[in-house]
Amino acid sequence: MRIIAYGAVEGVTGSCFLLEHEECKILVDCGLFQGDFDSTDQEFPFNASKIDFVIITHAHLDHIGRIPLLIKRGFKGKIICTKATFELGRLMLIDAAKVMYEDYLVKSRKAERRGESVNPPLYTEDDIIESYDYFKTVEYKETMRLNKNITFTLKDAGHILGSSYIQFSIHEGGKEKKIIFSGDLGNRNKPIVRNPSPPDDGETVFIEATYGDREHKKFDESKRELKEAIDYAFKNNGNVIIPTFALERAQELLYLLREMYEEKLLPPCKVFLDSPLAISATELFKRHIEYFDKEACDMIKKGRDPFSFPYLIYTRSVEESKSINYYRGNSIIIAGSGMCNGGRILHHLKHNLWNPNNSIVFIGFQAKGTLGRKIVDGERFVNIYGEQIKVNARVFTINGFSSHADKLILKNWLSQIKSLKNIYLIHGEKDIMEKFSQYLKESFSEVNVCIPKFGEAIEI
Ligand SMILES: [Zn+2]
Repeated sequence: MRIIAYGAVEGVTGSCFLLEHEECKILVDCGLFQGDFDSTDQEFPFNASKIDFVIITHAHLDHIGRIPLLIKRGFKGKIICTKATFELGRLMLIDAAKVMYEDYLVKSRKAERRGESVNPPLYTEDDIIESYDYFKTVEYKETMRLNKNITFTLKDAGHILGSSYIQFSIHEGGKEKKIIFSGDLGNRNKPIVRNPSPPDDGETVFIEATYGDREHKKFDESKRELKEAIDYAFKNNGNVIIPTFALERAQELLYLLREMYEEKLLPPCKVFLDSPLAISATELFKRHIEYFDKEACDMIKKGRDPFSFPYLIYTRSVEESKSINYYRGNSIIIAGSGMCNGGRILHHLKHNLWNPNNSIVFIGFQAKGTLGRKIVDGERFVNIYGEQIKVNARVFTINGFSSHADKLILKNWLSQIKSLKNIYLIHGEKDIMEKFSQYLKESFSEVNVCIPKFGEAIEI
């Protein structure tokens, strides 16, 4: 059999790996390429109608975002994932379709004036709804048989709610081959999700390397840094603006602010969760406590809501969102997108970035080229909606919130795998993967460490 890497190779988006066995073809993840990619880059370099199964590790768009396109291109098989991945995935896909459509409207209007046209969105909400029929959900540790020679088990990856890694057992030529795909592995001791489960046997492992070159700060330290950012702004009667991802990060932030409220560390204020997607995701989290760690689970069982406290206000409608601007000072505004390349956060930055009394708090990865990255990198002026805005607010960057394992956690997870022979590094920037590869070669001298290229077929 062979495995061909068709995404998240020498980069972090578009996760997609094709397992070709004599009896069936399986895709591991079917994610969107994000960043500087156009719609033609999203096309599949294989025949979608020939794929029998897709296994989705988790609900982030770079792992699930091309599912509706796969079905449009003729896929007729089964899509398998945990229940939480399916439900969160639906939210993420519908939101992605809306963003694509809005983007299309803006671009097509401009193109029309030049006498040109643009490609329509990759898929619509109708395509997403059609895809629901193809899903089948499984639980962690439940071994699933795809045919007489292939079984797999999903285990908790501890990355976001319902996230998993995959352990395959594949029989071919009288031999058993054990292959593991890490998906995205989580950080340790985070609120809500559990730590990544220990893996079983595996000769071949495809492991993510997003933060393979660094060690994260402790989560408690991040809490202290967040308190400092809040105190700074409130002392000046200013606001705290937090760009955040709607899934997991927003819920962690609410969890933390609720904890700070209970510990009397949060001064009286208004906390706006200004993201319909994050609000829906938070509601969905509360229906899936089976994926929570013990602490969060116990709270729910005792009738307490881990994401709620008296200062919190949900703003779903555009009118409610706009009304936030009328509050002067002592507000914490949480909005997307997490990298400030779109969404409601742009309005809040426009209204708050110029004012030295405010805090802007970054708690997530800021990719090159995004507005978030420009602010983090210290640019003095930024352009928002065609207007030059001076960056006068105090900027805080807090690292300990990461949902990804750092190099120590990744190495520790790998060291638990018995009979490990081959490590393939995926889902990481090229220079980071090279550093991580060197680190692993020094740590596991008996193991081959490789960085596959796009379209490279790996014989197993
Ligand atoms: Zn992820």
